[in-house]
Amino acid sequence: MNAGALCLQVEDVTRLHVARWPHASATREESMKVIIKSEVCVGHGMCVLACPEIFSLSDEDGHALVVDENVPPQLEDAVDQAVRGCPEGAIETA
Ligand code: SF4
Repeated sequence: MNAGALCLQVEDVTRLHVARWPHASATREESMKVIIKSEVCVGHGMCVLACPEIFSLSDEDGHALVVDENVPPQLEDAVDQAVRGCPEGAIETA
């Protein structure tokens, strides 16, 4: 399975996201924000595999970059998967 297909598959379950976030509510209107702690990232690229729409790897140092810190609702679960899959714990969302 490629990462693009993974992101498309999670579109149907984005409503589950609301229940998982302590600060979230059913009426949440702000988008999820994502950052990478550059001092922690070592460039595995697992985040890019989980959601290439949001993460990429720098051509300069090979570390992850956030393409857009504002995560669209349909990609929130894929970003969540990237957070869980980062071996270094370098990704944070709010
Ligand atoms: S998976 Fe984590 S450590 Fe690896 S490139 Fe992505 S953010 Fe960096």
